[in-house]
Amino acid sequence: MSRDGKAARGGAQSGVRGGSARGSATKRVMCGDVPIGGGAPVSIQSMTNTDTRDALATAAQIAALAAAGCDIVRCAVPDAAAAAALTGIRAELAARGVRIPIVADIHFDYRLAIAAIENGADKIRLNPGNIGGADKVRAVAERARDAGVPLRVGVNGGSLEGAVAGGHGGEATAEALAKSALMNIDRLKSMGFDDIVVSVKSSDARVCADALRVLSPLTDAPVHLGVTEAGAGDRALVKSAIGIGPLLAEGIGDTMRVSLTCDPIREVYAARDILASVGMLPGAIDVISCPTCGRCNVNLTRIADEVREAVSPLEAERVTSARGALFAACTGGAGAAGPVGAPGIARRARSRASGAGGVLTVAVMGCAVNGPGEAAHADMGVACGNGNAVLFERGVKTGTIAEADVVPVLLAKIRQAMSNDAKVGDGTH
Ligand code: SF4
Repeated sequence: MSRDGKAARGGAQSGVRGGSARGSATKRVMCGDVPIGGGAPVSIQSMTNTDTRDALATAAQIAALAAAGCDIVRCAVPDAAAAAALTGIRAELAARGVRIPIVADIHFDYRLAIAAIENGADKIRLNPGNIGGADKVRAVAERARDAGVPLRVGVNGGSLEGAVAGGHGGEATAEALAKSALMNIDRLKSMGFDDIVVSVKSSDARVCADALRVLSPLTDAPVHLGVTEAGAGDRALVKSAIGIGPLLAEGIGDTMRVSLTCDPIREVYAARDILASVGMLPGAIDVISCPTCGRCNVNLTRIADEVREAVSPLEAERVTSARGALFAACTGGAGAAGPVGAPGIARRARSRASGAGGVLTVAVMGCAVNGPGEAAHADMGVACGNGNAVLFERGVKTGTIAEADVVPVLLAKIRQAMSNDAKVGDGTH
């Protein structure tokens, strides 16, 4: 039980779900028109790396992020010119027909937070460890409350308040980070401000995760997940997946950013991959393939890569549709499919290719002897060998095709499944 008597976070639920298993244990916060917490789908965030003062370049990058599937974008606001540029960025996005909430990232100067709110920021990310005294926090909270703008309390291991760190041997331990986050949430609440998202970040994935395990049962604030300064390349992806994935599986986390040293669009793809890996990306098309062994006599790596590449745009279409319906359900918008996180949605999503929110699993296996059996859970698949491929659907062999036809045949089957999704969705099937 939480300190305020609410039920503690739930464990992982079975089935594909877009929202955190904590569900109603977290308060719903609106960032623009994107809901965070309260069982809403876990939203994907990224951050621009253009100069925010260059409104055209920043808007172009935001548009690209939105097209890649980013739900919320954050921009650094290091000075007054950057805060003022938010107006131009918003105008350019509107001209491009792009709607996406913008979060202003503020350090050191509380006046920049106020300026960002006045220039249309949908959310403010503050680091309480470096923003100054209570009077400055109060000034931001009052302006944010008047404008209906939420605040993210972003506690960082590198800028932990000295008094908190001092109580933990001068170290940014998991307990110290959680304590700082709770202290700052309580401070905002005591000022009458409750529109709060919280993050606790460290470049140490274990510290980060442990801090949120301590913090999560003690607050109803939606949680922003991420491993800060994760680095570049495969190591950074693995570190982020380890720091974020288990928490999602435990039911902790309402929005996330994968921090990578690269084009921020890669952060969006990585976030989707992490969500898909824990069964929280509604509409995903999961291409699985065997690792091959001595029984394999085809170039399965090439075939699997070709299938994965060909499936990618279809998955993007299916995921966008499924997540859009879930977000709409949260806000009662068009396409609302019922209460998000309701057991009915979870059950429907779990079954094979059953409705747009379900995961469609496509198997690419390296031999006809064991392949179909090993991938019996897949919705469809091929078991390759000797220039041919055995086609199987839901564990049953349904034909033999030429190896060269693997990609077009699987694509046709996937399109058929998506067409069936649509019929299920509109009640004609
Ligand atoms: S499916 Fe066949 S080739 Fe692939 S790992 Fe299994 S036995 Fe080996």
